[in-house]
Amino acid sequence: MNTMHTDIPKTSTPQLSIVVPMYNEEENIKHFVKRVVQVVAPLELDYELLLVDDGSRDGTWLEIQTAAQLFKTVRGIRLARNFGHQSALLAGLRAAKGQAVISMDGDLQHPPEMIPELLKAWKDGARVVSTTRTYSKTTSAFKRFTSSLYYRIFSYLSEVPMKSGQSDFRLLDRSALEQLLSIRQSDIFLRGAVSWLNYPETTIPFVAADRLHGESKYPLSKMLRFARGGILAFSTKPLQIGIAMGLMTSVFSFAYLVYILVQHARGQTVEGWSSTLGLLSLLFGVLFIMLGIVGTYLGRIYIMLQQRPQYVLEDDDRLLRKNESDVQSEPQKAKSANS
Ligand code: UDP
Ligand code: MG
Repeated sequence: MNTMHTDIPKTSTPQLSIVVPMYNEEENIKHFVKRVVQVVAPLELDYELLLVDDGSRDGTWLEIQTAAQLFKTVRGIRLARNFGHQSALLAGLRAAKGQAVISMDGDLQHPPEMIPELLKAWKDGARVVSTTRTYSKTTSAFKRFTSSLYYRIFSYLSEVPMKSGQSDFRLLDRSALEQLLSIRQSDIFLRGAVSWLNYPETTIPFVAADRLHGESKYPLSKMLRFARGGILAFSTKPLQIGIAMGLMTSVFSFAYLVYILVQHARGQTVEGWSSTLGLLSLLFGVLFIMLGIVGTYLGRIYIMLQQRPQYVLEDDDRLLRKNESDVQSEPQKAKSANS
């Protein structure tokens, strides 16, 4: 059944991989593939178009197989069920072999015609080429507003600056991709993670087209979950806000405890007031401090669990060699170095 092996391009390291998550996109695939091929074929480079079927329930996988038979540059991978856009994208990025890897949506909202521009910025030395989306006129004011608000809140809470309108339409150099993939976070938020890497970026604006066929797979509820996930994945600030509030409360409690003791000494209290409120203040003060301590450790554990690299390499001689001839002469160089 696996006819697709023969369609995998011969070279194991193509110059370019284009990774596209697809969820119930049966109507869009052939148009998408056609347009990508039209744009990329004239560039005469070695490339692969990697279509990731994110557990679609329609004919997406069949369409991918058909495309793979028609074009030897098309590869397909299929997830066992629907894992969501970010996970599908991640699966594709892991499977991609290219020296440069472009990720984009499969509904033609990200215009394939921009691929040469992204490639040019990469050849000019950019390791991350991002795009920012300006919405077309048909996009609702609500979507535009909430989107720009989100990026502001995200940047504030996570201390990872993220430009408004960032999308998952971008090019990553192999070296940046390797760093990105070394983050072992199961609920990874790719946009945030790429910003976190903080490579010098080239940013290209584009106007998002309308979806060719079908409906957005991101209804408001999913969008909110995605937004919340992005912030939680990157920030322990909500926890820190809790800690600050706890500390304030405990300071207040202890101050009040002093007041109670003074009042008690002056005999200006009713029976039982000092003991009740004094005990309450003391316990709440201690409790909030303990909660703060627990929160601090929890935050650290959370960040450590993500196994983000402790540092991000700016330069690695080995990874930077994009030039085909450099890559081929590698074993010889190694030999001469060893002798
Ligand atoms: N997608 C996916 N899995 C999902 C939802 C979406 O792989 O669970 C893909 C979808 O096929 C498309 C891309 O992710 O190629 C972006 O999705 P969509 O166009 O629905 O999002 P929007 O553009 O409305 O934000
Ligand atoms: Mg879309």
